[in-house]
Amino acid sequence: MKKTFYELALQNPGVVAWYSALKLEMAVHLAKEIITQMLQSDVVPGREEAMARLEAELQQKLGLEVSVADLPDFQHYGYVDDFYASLEWSAGGLIHTHIAFWIVGSPRIDKAVVPKETKPDEVEIDVTPAEAFVLPQERAANLMATFWDRVITEFNVGKLVQEAAESTEDAPVDLRAGVGVRSKLGRKQERATKTPESISWPTFAHCLLGDLSLPTEAEEEACWDELAAILGACARPDWPKEVCTPGSASVEARRALARKTFVAALAEWVDMHDLHAPFPMGPPGKDQACATVDNEHSAQERCSCNKLYPRSCIAPGQEEINEDPRRRDLY
Ligand SMILES: [Zn+2]
Repeated sequence: MKKTFYELALQNPGVVAWYSALKLEMAVHLAKEIITQMLQSDVVPGREEAMARLEAELQQKLGLEVSVADLPDFQHYGYVDDFYASLEWSAGGLIHTHIAFWIVGSPRIDKAVVPKETKPDEVEIDVTPAEAFVLPQERAANLMATFWDRVITEFNVGKLVQEAAESTEDAPVDLRAGVGVRSKLGRKQERATKTPESISWPTFAHCLLGDLSLPTEAEEEACWDELAAILGACARPDWPKEVCTPGSASVEARRALARKTFVAALAEWVDMHDLHAPFPMGPPGKDQACATVDNEHSAQERCSCNKLYPRSCIAPGQEEINEDPRRRDLY
């Protein structure tokens, strides 16, 4: 069957392109919707603080006599109102998209002023236009973090779940060296494993979202069995098994735990950058997909991850804005 799909795809590139575009466009709209929901939600903490900051910024620009509460920026805070996306795929088979979102209330920063050493005989020419929004690095970082922390995280839920299950005060689990399940499977077994993103719609809607009721108990059980099979193969070994078996916990509590476990497994399955070899928290091996090799075949040969992982661990409130070492002037 797989071979048939492969042959058909080769013979009909137009159909493949149409399907890839459709799938990616759906992903773009899904991301747009989710970001709007999260930014506008009371459930995600920090909205009041973020809005207070926006209010202060607007007030500063408009003067005290203007009421900012009536402005659309304030009323539609967090709404993703436009996007630009490019949909891409190539012979490698990895379909992906690059998106820019326009979001009501997102901070505008044209330039972050980063303190740097200057030599006495050096002359620096500043080409920043007069109307640009220039902020000192620390304030820029603070503003960005207050807005974006509510939607984006590099936090690994899988590691948290494992820590909660295994750590004791005397023997904390070494999470820095711990990788997800995928890297230990090997190519052959990885291909034979049903990945979390292939979950069927009934299982997703019934077990995780809880908004699909099924006519018979047997059908419900089949869904929980499918979820158990996915988590059994893709989640960290000590995932809470009671998620998929009726027990003392209410079905709502089971669903909440199932969602957390599923998200953890999904995130580890699709994130490839803590799978660097030989050390998961070190640079990638020379032959890994994300590796960039500088000064190859010399004594200074150095291998690093082109997505800059592993990144340093930053505590809330300590965020910084740094220049991408590979792309000048990109922060
Ligand atoms: Zn990497």
